[in-house]
Amino acid sequence: MDQLIQFSYLLASVSFILGLKFLSSPETAPRGMLLSQGGMFIAVVATLLNYGVVSYGMILSGVIIGAALGAVMATKIKMTDMPQMVALLNGFGGLASALVGAAEFFRSQSNLTAYPMITIALTILIGMVTLTGSLVAFAKLQELMKGAPIIFPFQHGLNFLFFISTLALIGYLAFMPAATPAFWALVAISSLLGILVVIPIGGGDMPVVISLLNSYSGMAAAASGFILNNNVLIISGSLVGSAGIILSQLMCKAMNRSLTNVLFGGFGQVTAAPKTPPVSAGSDGGSKPAVPEAAPEVRSGTPQEAAEFFKKAKSVIIVPGYGMAVAQAQHTVKDLAERLEKQGTEVRYAIHPVAGRMPGHMNVLLAEANVPYDKLIDMDEINDDFEDTDVSLVIGANDVVNPGADTDPESPIYGMPILHVDRSKLVMVLKRSMKPGFAGIENELFYKPNTMMIFGDAKGTVEQMAEALK
Ligand code: NDP
Repeated sequence: MDQLIQFSYLLASVSFILGLKFLSSPETAPRGMLLSQGGMFIAVVATLLNYGVVSYGMILSGVIIGAALGAVMATKIKMTDMPQMVALLNGFGGLASALVGAAEFFRSQSNLTAYPMITIALTILIGMVTLTGSLVAFAKLQELMKGAPIIFPFQHGLNFLFFISTLALIGYLAFMPAATPAFWALVAISSLLGILVVIPIGGGDMPVVISLLNSYSGMAAAASGFILNNNVLIISGSLVGSAGIILSQLMCKAMNRSLTNVLFGGFGQVTAAPKTPPVSAGSDGGSKPAVPEAAPEVRSGTPQEAAEFFKKAKSVIIVPGYGMAVAQAQHTVKDLAERLEKQGTEVRYAIHPVAGRMPGHMNVLLAEANVPYDKLIDMDEINDDFEDTDVSLVIGANDVVNPGADTDPESPIYGMPILHVDRSKLVMVLKRSMKPGFAGIENELFYKPNTMMIFGDAKGTVEQMAEALK
């Protein structure tokens, strides 16, 4: 039986690795998901065959409760709230590993030697940091607490002190596994550490933190795999651990920041209040308020006016952002693109790596609307094409098209690569107001002479544009 279990674990591990490989392209991603799910099923069944299973009744109750909760969460959660959900699930992963560690500690405390004790203690440390850190990330994204960095004097020094204390406790427990108070002290300090390392990080950096915590949850699972002597847990935990680190690094690269800067930089402290500039009249009949001449002016237009420009355009680049997700405008955007293509206009989509609220957010939305993958062009590949483009249609994107990232060294997003929509002949920006985007900073794009703001919910605006093109 043990051989069958180990063989199943091997099969499951291979499925996980191939599944991850397939996830690297949207075409093969569904296959990757299926393969990984199949692998997980095999791993679970093989684990249940283990003679060490004490109570199938308890496991079944856990499966039913967990599956019900998971199903409710998956169906109820809005796509825009996905980062919060991922944060919460990471936290649960950390808690599960920490519970395995605690159970093993109390079960075999009397005969624990140094090596298993160190493994248990590390599981507690990583698991509890993951749990409390993820809960803070969840609270920040859910706006249960303020998203801005919470900073106080000697914060990093205090965090370092706590970290050293956890190492000292692990060392102590390695020699004195019977010291239950030291075990509880480790649980408490690790939990505090998780909170303290995440509170100084601003909301804008939360996706990187979540990806990092995801990596920690994988490491915690791998550590619990060592405790349980379970190969598939060690392999799958290591895969999650390394995938999370790689994703964190990719996201940092997309924002042109280092991981150290994200973790210790306190990004998001400076939030510029948006100017309230005058809005000049388009043919929609708005009025021009009396303002000082030097004040920047915003040119606004209607969807119908925009359609007139579209009729003459040979090339259009659509730049989706978080607002497209909020408006759920992806299907209407596809309809508009088809209308434009019918009249002979070339239409492509420019995808910024951190557009939206999670990596791949725009790809997922556009795939849902069946936009062909070959029309989605990554930032690096399309950025040089804006100069020769007639119309850039920015749909609910803001930070990822903010030229201040290039030109304003004071800007908190200075250095972040952006999509150079401002270089195209005409930029249409679809949003509801002049409010800033996620980073809370103003966008000089809105005041450029080649920019036309079209205010309103993106879905309604795009519908009207498509209608006017008929
Ligand atoms: P932004 O958050 O910068 O801007 C989104 C814009 O959409 C807002 O200015 C808002 O303006 C507009 N909007 C909202 N709802 C609607 C609607 N119904 N109709 C029309 N417009 C709407 O989004 P970007 O995608 O440009 O940038 C992403 C930001 O999020 C970056 O700062 C990135 O670092 C960060 N981030 C990225 C993550 C990722 O992994 N992708 C995860 C978490 C954060 P208004 O209110 O006026 O309508």
